[in-house]
Amino acid sequence: MKFNTVIIGGGLAGLVAGISLQKAGQNTAIISSGQNALHFFSGTFESMEEPSQQLAELFSEAGIRTHYQAGVRLMPLGTFRPAALSLEDISLFPTSHFGKKVLIVNFLGYHDFFSSFLAEGLEKQGMSCRIHQLKLAQLEWLEQSPSEMRSVQIARIMDRIWDVVVQEVRVLLKDEDTVVLPQVFGLQDISVPGRIRQGIPAQVVFAGTLPPSVPGIRTQMLLKRRYELLGGTYLAGDEATGAHVHEGVVHSIVTKNLDSHFLEAGHFILASGGFFSKGLRSNPFQIQEPVFGLDVVQAADRSDWYQPDFMQEQPYMSFGVQTDAQLHAVRDGQALKNLFAVGSILGGTRPEMGTAAGLAIRSALAAVDQILRRS
Ligand SMILES: Cc1cc2nc3c(=O)[nH]c(=O)nc-3n(C[C@H](O)[C@H](O)[C@H](O)COP(=O)(O)OP(=O)(O)OC[C@H]3O[C@@H](n4cnc5c(N)ncnc54)[C@H](O)[C@@H]3O)c2cc1C
Repeated sequence: MKFNTVIIGGGLAGLVAGISLQKAGQNTAIISSGQNALHFFSGTFESMEEPSQQLAELFSEAGIRTHYQAGVRLMPLGTFRPAALSLEDISLFPTSHFGKKVLIVNFLGYHDFFSSFLAEGLEKQGMSCRIHQLKLAQLEWLEQSPSEMRSVQIARIMDRIWDVVVQEVRVLLKDEDTVVLPQVFGLQDISVPGRIRQGIPAQVVFAGTLPPSVPGIRTQMLLKRRYELLGGTYLAGDEATGAHVHEGVVHSIVTKNLDSHFLEAGHFILASGGFFSKGLRSNPFQIQEPVFGLDVVQAADRSDWYQPDFMQEQPYMSFGVQTDAQLHAVRDGQALKNLFAVGSILGGTRPEMGTAAGLAIRSALAAVDQILRRS
C-alpha cells in the first residue's frame, strides 16, 4: 500500500499532522495501536495561548470549540492551575476565587468525582460549599455495578437526559452563585455543556473526574472523524513493528496486522508518544524507540534517570528521540531524510516548541510544513 505520508500514532500530534496533510491534498494513513494521552486530557492545551489562524481553522472545521483567557482553571481536588488554551466547556477564571457559595452536584453511586475533596479545596479558598448527590432513575441500571458507573457510560446517558439534570439542579439551587458538575457532558453532542449553562440560573463550572476524560475522548473522536472525512486512512488497533530503511531513507513500515503488505510512502511521521503510549520503552539498561531503533537522548547511568523523591521533577520525563533542527529523526548519528519525529516522543528536547499539547501541535505542524514544501 502506497501513500504520500504514513503517520505512526493517532494521538493529538498524529491527527493534527494527518488532517493538515489531507487538507493539503495528500493521501495519508495513520496507524495507531491503542489509547493515547487525549483519553486522559484535562481539556487544557498546555503551553498554548490563542491558536494561530491555521490551528483555529483546523479545530473549528473538526467541531472542536476552544477559548483562551489568561488566568486559572479549577482542578478536580478544588485547587487551581494556570490556564491555557482550553475546550469551551472548561471554565477559565482571572483569579482562584470564582464564587461565594457553591453547590457541588454529583450522581449517587458515582465515585470517580471527588466532591468532598473538591469542597475542601474550595473552602480553603474562602468559598462555602454544599454537596448534593443526585439520584436519577436513568442511572439506576448503571448503579448496580460499580464498574459500569464510569464517566463515559454516564456521559452516553447524559447526552440524552441533560435537561433532566438542569431541572433537578434548578430545584436544588438555593442562594448559591455557582454550581459545579462533573465533566460528563457533551460526549457526542458538543452543544450540551452550553445548554446546561443556559438552563441553570447560576455560574456553571464542569470539574474533572477520574479518567477516561469525556472532553478528551470527544476531542479525539472529532479529530479522527475530521481526518476520515478528508479521506485519510485510519488503521486503528494495528501497530508498527519495524521499518525498511536504506541509506538514510525510510521506504516502508511493517505492521502487526498487515503481515507482508508493507506501508510505503515518500514521508513518514513518528507520533507514537512517550513512555505512556509505548512510543518509548525502557529496560533496566537503556531507553529505546522500538519501531526504527532511533537514538534516544537519555542519561547514560540508570541512577540518573529518576529522583528518589517522587515529588521532584523526574529526569526520565525529558528523555526523547534525537532529531536535527528540522525534526528529522536520528539513527546511529545520522538524520533520516524523510522521517520526522513529533509530539511527546520528543520528550523535553524541543523547549522552543513548548511542552505537552503545545509541543504536540507545534511539532506536528512544523513537520507538515516541511513535507509540503518538498512535495
Ligand atoms: C496521562 C496523560 C495526560 C495528559 N494530559 C494533558 C493535558 O491535559 N493537557 C496537555 O496539554 N497535555 C497533556 N498531556 C501531555 C500529552 O502528552 C500531550 O498533550 C499530547 O496529547 C501527546 O500527544 P502525542 O500524539 O504526542 O502522543 P500520544 O497521545 O501518547 O499518542 C501516541 C499514540 O501512538 C500510538 N502508538 C505508539 N506506538 C505505536 C506503534 N508502534 N504503532 C502504532 N501506534 C503506536 C499510541 O497507542 C497512541 O495512540 C498528558 C499526557 C499524559 C501521558
